[in-house]
Amino acid sequence: DGADFDTETKSVCPFCGVGCQVSLRSKGDRIVAVDGVDGPANEGRLCVKGRFGFDYVHHPHRLTKPLIRREDAPAKGLNVDPGDWGAAFREASWEEALERAAAGLRGRGREVAGFGSAKCSNEEAYLFQRFIREGFGHNNVDHCTRLCHASSVAALLENVGSGAVTATFNEIENADCAIVIGANPVENHPVAATYLKQFAARGGTLIVMDPRGQALARHAAHMLQFRPGADVALLNSVMHVIVEEGLVDRQYVKGFTENWAAQERHLAGFAPERVEGLTGIAPDAVRAVARAFAGARAGMIFWGMGVSQHVHGTDNARCLISLALMCGHVGRPGTGLHPLRGQNNVQGASDAGLIPMFLPDYRSVADPDARGGYAALWGAEVAPEAGLTVTEIMDAVHAGGVRAMYVLGENPAMSDPDLAHARGALAKLDHLVVQDIFLTETANYADVILPASAFYEKAGTVTNTNRQVQMGRPAVPPPGEAREDWRVIRDLANACGLGWTYEHPREVFAEMAGMMPSLANITWERLEREGAVTYPSLTPEDPGQPIVFGDGFPREGGRARFAPADVVPPDELPDAEYPMVLTTGRQLEHWHTGSMTRRASVLDAVEPEANCSLHPSTLRRLGVEAGGMVTLETRRGAVTLMARADRAVAPDMVFLPFAYVEAAANLLTNPALDPYGKIPEFKFAAVRAFAA
Ligand code: SF4
Repeated sequence: DGADFDTETKSVCPFCGVGCQVSLRSKGDRIVAVDGVDGPANEGRLCVKGRFGFDYVHHPHRLTKPLIRREDAPAKGLNVDPGDWGAAFREASWEEALERAAAGLRGRGREVAGFGSAKCSNEEAYLFQRFIREGFGHNNVDHCTRLCHASSVAALLENVGSGAVTATFNEIENADCAIVIGANPVENHPVAATYLKQFAARGGTLIVMDPRGQALARHAAHMLQFRPGADVALLNSVMHVIVEEGLVDRQYVKGFTENWAAQERHLAGFAPERVEGLTGIAPDAVRAVARAFAGARAGMIFWGMGVSQHVHGTDNARCLISLALMCGHVGRPGTGLHPLRGQNNVQGASDAGLIPMFLPDYRSVADPDARGGYAALWGAEVAPEAGLTVTEIMDAVHAGGVRAMYVLGENPAMSDPDLAHARGALAKLDHLVVQDIFLTETANYADVILPASAFYEKAGTVTNTNRQVQMGRPAVPPPGEAREDWRVIRDLANACGLGWTYEHPREVFAEMAGMMPSLANITWERLEREGAVTYPSLTPEDPGQPIVFGDGFPREGGRARFAPADVVPPDELPDAEYPMVLTTGRQLEHWHTGSMTRRASVLDAVEPEANCSLHPSTLRRLGVEAGGMVTLETRRGAVTLMARADRAVAPDMVFLPFAYVEAAANLLTNPALDPYGKIPEFKFAAVRAFAA
């Protein structure tokens, strides 16, 4: 029961972007229990993942020694049992493995690409992007933000001047209206959802907009279950009503924004009656929502992957920004724009420059001043051209331009869209180095596997969805010969000839903080002492600013910009052959590709089997009992798995979680990209379903 422990260590939950602070109770080298502590984002609360999802750290599948692919190994692919890999790999010393890993990368310039991870610390993200940029002279380095909020960040940078949230989610305590759109926080950000429920319980007006019903809808004053892909039409119609009924905050628009005239003209064409056929939402319901949000004293907007993972994901986010601006709901207590971040450190990894077009703090690689600063620090030129994104890298492998990859903590053999394409690329590489804690599906394709550390085994900082930089502390050592990730990156960089001298992540943090204005007044020592500091922090004593942009925006002229967005249909519409809509996402118990949570005994016991959800009437039509097997097929692949009956899913939709390798959702998904954020359309593909 965890009562018998000898050490307590404060750290941060390694799962979602809420960033709950935890107390890790350990006995010897084992964590025996986890409890919540009073962190700024969670105030002692934890969800089932944070509280019970920790024993993956001690799973027998943990990699404990470096592995090298055998000469006579079977062909690369999903043919290796993570508990019995002897036919494919042999154990090696660190010296041999690092030399082998480096030998396949050294001197290959643009043939090399790197996938870092939002599961790692800020320091590790910084080192990883430095390694690729300094070591290979280009910017082909990216991470899972590309599959997550890249489109939100594109819209925020373009129109607000900053990619981070304008207010912490805890600001909901000061709001009287909130919109949650394309997000399912009860399952994906459960502790943040508790604040939203409390808000509704004390009389706040909660508006939920989503093509899929969800648990939060029970707490909502308005639930708009709109047709999938109709986000822009719906949001423009809400804004149309706000203009029509004279509810625009003209004073705010005049004082803090630009391009309003174009936005107002554009909205004229979106009367709710005109777009009802697209959205499926009655005009009266649109009007009620418009009045509630625009008429609120203080309103917030929260969104998730349901907004971002579309070919029009950036347009969706542009609409949300415009909606907040026209109501003056930015920069005051209880107002703000808040894209709920998915992974625990996707904000920090992006801030640290783990993206192909930006150096740390979103300074463009095209900016000579930014490049010059890092060239002076690193003693190496930074390339001025943006590098390839996650999905573009896979295309480049197929085209022959990229031939070697270093993957740290990512699992593209499960997480990329159209997996047949992504797995084909991994198999085609001359040389693949994978650094991870388990022999993941991606490690199946590796030439060298470097055993890494779980988050509870190392020191490092992470930045949550609230811009709170928090200190993670080690509770137990890595198993066997596994090493902290920052150390492995350093050693591989040195094996490639870079001569790095870091001896502790605090040195890396100091280097980052010296270059990144966002980290001003935040030091490693301060984080050790205080546990968390929100950026921006205005003085060495300031705990940080929960709300930003009250006095203008970090854009030229200090004004935010309206970006009118037109309706762009989903890339692949249903037809006679594939008549339904497939949408993918997470479940409460499982996190991303399942490599950790499916090895956490409690979580796996609760949710052990690949499943999908369909409306009961759809199951009846297909002749499938709830709990029976169904096959889902798109133009790219098919999976067979257990079907659940769920009235929250519209009759023409299927919801498919993406954590299960035995029925991998991304075998089915459409790789079509949003042109700005380069994010795939995970939330919409044409699919057919039939009894298996
Ligand atoms: Fe961990 Fe997120 Fe759950 Fe908090 S809400 S305990 S950060 S998974």
